[in-house]
Amino acid sequence: MSKGKATIVVGVQWGDEGKGKVVDVLAEHFDIVARYQGGANAGHTVIIDGNKFLLQLIPTGLLRPGKIAVLGNGVVLDPPALLQELETVQAAGISVGQRLLISERAHLILPYHRTHEQAAEAARASKIGTTSKGIGPSYEDKAGRRGLRAGDVRDLAGFRQKCLEAFAEKQRVASALYGHSARDTVRQVDEYVSKARCIIPYLSDVSAHLNQALDRGQTVLFEGAQGTLLDLDHGTYPFVTSSNATAGGACTGAGVGPTRIGAVIGVSKAYATRVGSGPFPTEVTGPEGEKLRERGSEYGSVTGRPRRCGWFDAVAARYSARVNHLSALVITKLDILDHLAEIPVGVEYEWDGKRSTDFPAEAEVLERVKVRYEVLPGWLQPTFGLTDYDQLPAKAKAYLSFLSGQTGVPIVMVSTGPQRDQTLWMDRSLLPSR
Ligand code: GDP
Repeated sequence: MSKGKATIVVGVQWGDEGKGKVVDVLAEHFDIVARYQGGANAGHTVIIDGNKFLLQLIPTGLLRPGKIAVLGNGVVLDPPALLQELETVQAAGISVGQRLLISERAHLILPYHRTHEQAAEAARASKIGTTSKGIGPSYEDKAGRRGLRAGDVRDLAGFRQKCLEAFAEKQRVASALYGHSARDTVRQVDEYVSKARCIIPYLSDVSAHLNQALDRGQTVLFEGAQGTLLDLDHGTYPFVTSSNATAGGACTGAGVGPTRIGAVIGVSKAYATRVGSGPFPTEVTGPEGEKLRERGSEYGSVTGRPRRCGWFDAVAARYSARVNHLSALVITKLDILDHLAEIPVGVEYEWDGKRSTDFPAEAEVLERVKVRYEVLPGWLQPTFGLTDYDQLPAKAKAYLSFLSGQTGVPIVMVSTGPQRDQTLWMDRSLLPSR
C-alpha cells in the first residue's frame, strides 16, 4: 500500500460512522486536517480526556495543538454558527490563532437559505429530513451562480450591498412561492455582516496553501463529512446531502489534484445506522433495533433524532469501496455488538425475481429489495476499550475478517469505545512516514 501523505477519510455508510473519533486519532500523524464539503450539518463527537466536543463545521484537527485546520472551497459556511463553534473551542482552552484557514472560495450560508429550506421541506410530500441549516439552498445558489463567497466579505461595504440585493431578491421569491411577508432586510443584513466580518482573519487561498504544504513534504488528512450513501451523485438520491461526500469531493472541494492522494480510508460501523428518511435495506425495527440504538447511543448529535439501526450491509459497503476506491477500512463500535449471540450481515439483494450483489441506483428499488443475510456467531464477551488485536475474541476476529472478505478491503483499525485510546490497530502501514 502506498503511504498517504495526502489521505482521505470518508464515511462508508450514511454518516455518523464515528469519523469524528477516527479523524481525531489519525490527526496525530498529519500536519493539516481539511474539510472539503458540507456545512455545519456534520456533527462530529470527539471525547478527549473526558471532555466532550461536538464540532459541526470546524475540522476536529483543531483540537490537537499545533495542527492546522482547513475549510476548503467545497464547504458552505454559516459565519454566525462558525463563530459560536470557535467560542466553544476557545472556552475549552484551545487556542485557535493562525491554525484555522478558510477558503476565500467557500460559499456562504445566508439567513434566507435557512428559511427557504424550512419552507421547502414543509411543502414537500415526501420529506428528505434535512437539518434545515440552509446548506442545500446555499449549494443551489452556488450551482445557480448567484452565491456569495467567503472572500466577498473582505470588501465590507461591497459585501453589504451584495447582501442587500440578494436579500431583496430572495424576499420576492419567498413572498411569491410561500407567501412570506416582508421583513426588515436592512437590520438582518447589518446583523449578518457584523458577524461575517469575523471570518476575515482566517481567509486564505486554501488550494495554494495545501499544495505548497504537500510540496514541502507536509501531510494532509481530508475529513469527509456525512457518508458515501448520502453523496449527492452516488448516494440514495434524493435522500442525500447536497455535496460530494465521496473521495472525489476532496479534490474539487479543496483544490488538490487526484494524483496527490495516497490513500482513501473508509470508516464504517460494525453495524449500520441511518438518520432521517430514505431507503435502508438492512434496517431492524422492533426490540432488536431498539437494543442497538440504546447500546450505541444512536441519537443524532446535531438534531437529537433517534437513528434507525440495522445490520452491516456488505452490498452497500462494497459499493462504497468501489466509488471511493478504498485503500483500507476502519470499523467502529465493535463493542456495541458484544451482547449478540448471532450477528446477521446483509450479503445480497433480491428484487423483481433477480438476485444481485450490486447496489441499485433507484431509491424506490432500494426500498423494496429483500436482503439475504449470512448469520455469524457473536462473541458474547466484552470488547469495550480493547487496544490490542490479540485480545479480541476469536469470533470477533472472524466477524471482522468476514466484513473484510465481503468488501475486499483490508481492515486497518478497529474502534472499541468513544475515547482516543479505545482503538486497536491491525496495520499502520498506511500512515505517512516522517
Ligand atoms: P461521526 O459524525 O461519523 O463522527 O459520528 P458521531 O460522532 O455522530 O457518532 C459517533 C458516536 O459514537 C459518538 O458519540 C462517538 O463518541 C461514539 N463512538 C465512536 N466510536 C465508538 C466506539 O468504537 N464505541 C463506542 N461505544 N462509541 C463510539
